[in-house]
Amino acid sequence: MPDRRSDSNTGAFDVVIVGAGFSGLYMLHRMRELGFAVRLYEAGEGVGGTWFWNRYPGARCDIESVEYSYSFSEELQREWQWSERYASQPEILRYLNHVAERFDLHRDIQLETRVTSATFDEIGYRWTIETDRGDQVSARFCIMATGCLSTAKLPEYKGLETFQGNWYHTGNWPHQAVNFEGQRVGVIGTGSSGIQSIPMIAEQASHLFVFQRTPNFSVPAQNGPLTPEVSQDWTANHAERRQQIRKLPFAIAIEHSPDSALAVPTEERQRVYEQRWQRGGFAMMGAFADLIFNKEANDTAADFVRSKIRGIVSDPAVAQMLSPRDFPLATKRICVDTGYYATFNRENVTLIDVRDNPIEEITPTGLRTRDAEYALDSLVFASGFDAMTGSLNRIEIRGRTGATLKQKWAQGPRTYLGLMIAGFPNLFVVAGPGSPSVLSNMVVSIEHHVEWIADCLVYIRDRGISGLEATEAAEDEWIAHVNAVANMTLFPLANSWYMGANVPGKTRIFMPYIGGFPNYQKKCAEVTARGYEGFVLSIPDRSAAGAAQAASW
Ligand code: FAD
Ligand code: NAP
Repeated sequence: MPDRRSDSNTGAFDVVIVGAGFSGLYMLHRMRELGFAVRLYEAGEGVGGTWFWNRYPGARCDIESVEYSYSFSEELQREWQWSERYASQPEILRYLNHVAERFDLHRDIQLETRVTSATFDEIGYRWTIETDRGDQVSARFCIMATGCLSTAKLPEYKGLETFQGNWYHTGNWPHQAVNFEGQRVGVIGTGSSGIQSIPMIAEQASHLFVFQRTPNFSVPAQNGPLTPEVSQDWTANHAERRQQIRKLPFAIAIEHSPDSALAVPTEERQRVYEQRWQRGGFAMMGAFADLIFNKEANDTAADFVRSKIRGIVSDPAVAQMLSPRDFPLATKRICVDTGYYATFNRENVTLIDVRDNPIEEITPTGLRTRDAEYALDSLVFASGFDAMTGSLNRIEIRGRTGATLKQKWAQGPRTYLGLMIAGFPNLFVVAGPGSPSVLSNMVVSIEHHVEWIADCLVYIRDRGISGLEATEAAEDEWIAHVNAVANMTLFPLANSWYMGANVPGKTRIFMPYIGGFPNYQKKCAEVTARGYEGFVLSIPDRSAAGAAQAASW
């Protein structure tokens, strides 16, 4: 297939992609391989998405790098060597820049350009896309690779504008190194970003105050240099290893025990947990088959982690404060750390509970809780994201009926397979709500979506049809299934960002699909095999613009 370069003169493309993270970069590569005329817009000054924005100290992946990387290119797999078991943010960003250069992606990427609106025109069966730089282009297909965790969320405290020190959000960290040497620093938030950055900031700051509303479960990464054996094994056997991973529930290479935690003697259970703790990372999640289904089983694992916290943290009162109690283990994403709990043994670190003693105001010199005032030179918000829907809702996306996606999603996101939305023909979302996305190794889920979308576009082009749209019935059925599966687990018990609970006023609904990556992949394959079941394929486009477009494919 010839490479149909973007028609910059007329501003007419086959495909517009929004976002240049793992999703957008691979999507662009596939589109080009298939000969589609494509343009990608990215708000940032560089590619990399998550790994471009989240430059806070300690940022690294929580899935092993050999797995948290693309599998689509044999050559890429062979030529890239990871230095650590869990790569740091700079290394992952270098990798994504390497991918962009290696596959010559930059020529179709427009950086520093935020897409502000996308409007569907039913007559021409095309999308009009507008940006904050004044671009207005049209495309038959619009692919949102805008990320699940790409809209940083700041707490709504009064007084932030009066703060005289520097403040940062982990999800939008400066490009220059931030030096906290000799400073009194406050960190607000103890999710994965806080848990990764707190040990690093503590090493620099003269004093670190950690403001914790809810303690989280964290397990050690047991990070270290990637051994030559692991590296060589992956280079030699990566195709087989990747195949194995795709058959696992979260597409993460952990061993899943078929046993119930309640069916084994206490000593044996402790031995298993200890072995998994020593292994590090998400290994704990596969210790027993019923951990996410049965509260009693889950309690045994949660008790184990709490006993570890008591063993590491020397002050029992601090250990108690750090011990999560109000949600089951892993129903918020389990954190993977390096030296987190031990950080609270340092003389220069103070933990402050802001649940019973909430932060009331940011002051010019620090912050004030209900009970005390803290003098701070810098403030770090590790306060998370408007997850899964935030970046999509910021774009004015108008579908077939003229209604916006934000209006349609007022009561929570609704999609068919997390890929498409009834009323929004030819609009695709990569790793959207209703797909395994954030509950899986995201690179595996992203590659699967990119390939599904690419196959779909070829199907449409080959038949000379205008496109396709999910039906309301298929969407209703899928959302009911997503909820039913979530309700079989303990996940809805947590006030997590999976539920939208971290954003005041956001509708609470379990957003990702927890039925497992293999089941999901099978369902998508069945839909395709049945001629795109659950979608309406549109009639050939008779408009002048459509005829011209159809003639070219
Ligand atoms: P992103 O990487 O978020 O990229 C989306 C891009 O779209 C961004 O660059 C954004 O600027 C751009 N964009 C959004 N809206 C617009 C617009 N309107 N116009 C133009 N551009 C726009 N997942 C894992 O599986 N394992 C991990 O170890 C892991 N670690 C993580 C660590 C951190 C700190 C965070 C925040 C997330 C982590 N995740 C992890 C999830 C991570 O987001 C995904 O793994 C993956 O990087 C997402 O890639 P993406 O391309 O879909 O989205
Ligand atoms: P997060 O998990 O949502 O954590 C945000 C933290 O900020 C929570 O402790 C939250 O407390 C706190 N917070 C928010 N608003 C607050 C307020 N007004 N007052 C006090 N505390 C407040 O966000 P995150 O840590 O950035 O992580 C988000 C996701 O990104 C992760 O779950 C993970 O998927 C991904 N991630 C992965 C890694 C990795 O290890 N590779 C690293 C970072 C992020 P409450 O819990 O009480 O709301």
